[in-house]
Amino acid sequence: MGIHFLIFFSTFLGIFSGENRLKSSPEKPNIILIFADDLAYGDLGSYGARGWETPHLDQLAAEGMRFTQFYVPHAVCTASRAALLTGAYANRLGLYGALDHTANHGLNPEETTIAEMLKENGYQTGMVGKWHLGHQPEFLPTRQGFDSFFGLPYSNDMWPKHPESKNYYPPLPLIEGEEAIAYLEDQKELTSWYTYKSLEFIEKNQGNPFFLYLAHSMPHVPLFVSDKFKGESEQGLYGDVMMEIDWSVGEIRKKLKELGLSENTLIIFTSDNGPWLSYGGHAGLQGGLKEGKGTSWEGGIRVPAIFTWPGKIPAGQVQNQAAMTIDILPTLAKLTGSRLPKLKIDGSDIWPLIQGEKQELKPYYAYYNQNELQAVIYGKWKLVIPHTYRTIPSGTEMRNDGIPVKYSYIKLENPQLFDLSKDMGETKDVSIQNPEIMKMLNSFATQARTDMGDALTGAEGTGNRKAGRITIKEN
Ligand code: MG
Repeated sequence: MGIHFLIFFSTFLGIFSGENRLKSSPEKPNIILIFADDLAYGDLGSYGARGWETPHLDQLAAEGMRFTQFYVPHAVCTASRAALLTGAYANRLGLYGALDHTANHGLNPEETTIAEMLKENGYQTGMVGKWHLGHQPEFLPTRQGFDSFFGLPYSNDMWPKHPESKNYYPPLPLIEGEEAIAYLEDQKELTSWYTYKSLEFIEKNQGNPFFLYLAHSMPHVPLFVSDKFKGESEQGLYGDVMMEIDWSVGEIRKKLKELGLSENTLIIFTSDNGPWLSYGGHAGLQGGLKEGKGTSWEGGIRVPAIFTWPGKIPAGQVQNQAAMTIDILPTLAKLTGSRLPKLKIDGSDIWPLIQGEKQELKPYYAYYNQNELQAVIYGKWKLVIPHTYRTIPSGTEMRNDGIPVKYSYIKLENPQLFDLSKDMGETKDVSIQNPEIMKMLNSFATQARTDMGDALTGAEGTGNRKAGRITIKEN
């Protein structure tokens, strides 16, 4: 009797104090973070896409906040994903480029991901899609805060059918938890599978606050689309793939509505980098930006970004102030009352921007290759630092069959300054006319070099950490 009473009493107290906590602390909305791969700035209807339609994503934008100057800090898969999930520049974490099946390193388990942060705060966490932060078991999503994982360990072109590296890659595993459940022969159903797994996760966790990270493999090459979208767009395969991603967003929203969760769910949609231009008709739309993936020009680092939360984020708004994926983690921390990572991060809370207000400007950096500081962005100003970048030689005949053309390389000799508010295509260097702005942006660059180093100047930096590395056991 006495024991029962004690249990009853403490349960009662637990509920009681739980209710009190809810009243006095931030809400815990469900969070769905959709991250597309190589989806370009011009690929959504609300960003001017032509040749295909994205009605569900346009509706998402119409009900929320759409950013026009939203960045990733690194125009390549692994680095961009590391920054998104930790709120820190990937070079600070010792991660660069795109890992493949030979990598014995990955995101250091010492780092805190959004999933770990939210899990500690009572969230159920699930990941569906492309991971790319280390394929060794030690680095998989299930070791980095996610309760469940269904997807690919790295890019979908890292397979035996790669158009340029035929005998290099092993079969591409589809992973559930930490086990390979299949090796992919084709990828036609990938977007559908990701979608159904996401719906399953939402349904299963409808009673808890949940965090779903859906990282689509598409529209990264090789492009695949299910039969239901084949031939649906005017443009061809890339457009069909975009329409299937859009369908997926629609299915998720339909499920939320069905379960009565729409009002209590924040949806974020963005991309890891710009279009892979060498793939011609199999790459996305630059939307008026210069160059693409693999460069720190706007075409590489500026991506669409939509934040939608009915009743909490004003509908149909456009935010023109700059922000970056590193800001997502601290923003979610603030919104949910979660504890920030112990180790230093670089992003900051942009909830005021998401609500349509202005915030104090701060410098953003674009790092590429092995720790090269290539650009500094401060509001409408962008300093491009002398470096070598890839481009497609003029006069190249582009293809539309999934075979890339060759890049050539350009060495930028002098720093350039652009006023992105008038010239987002980075066509007119205004450095001579703006010596004070140059001085300020150069001082930001110096700060970054002192902290995170810079391979272009040889600066060492003092604030960088190391990637996780597996120890190869020797007998
Ligand atoms: Mg990518």
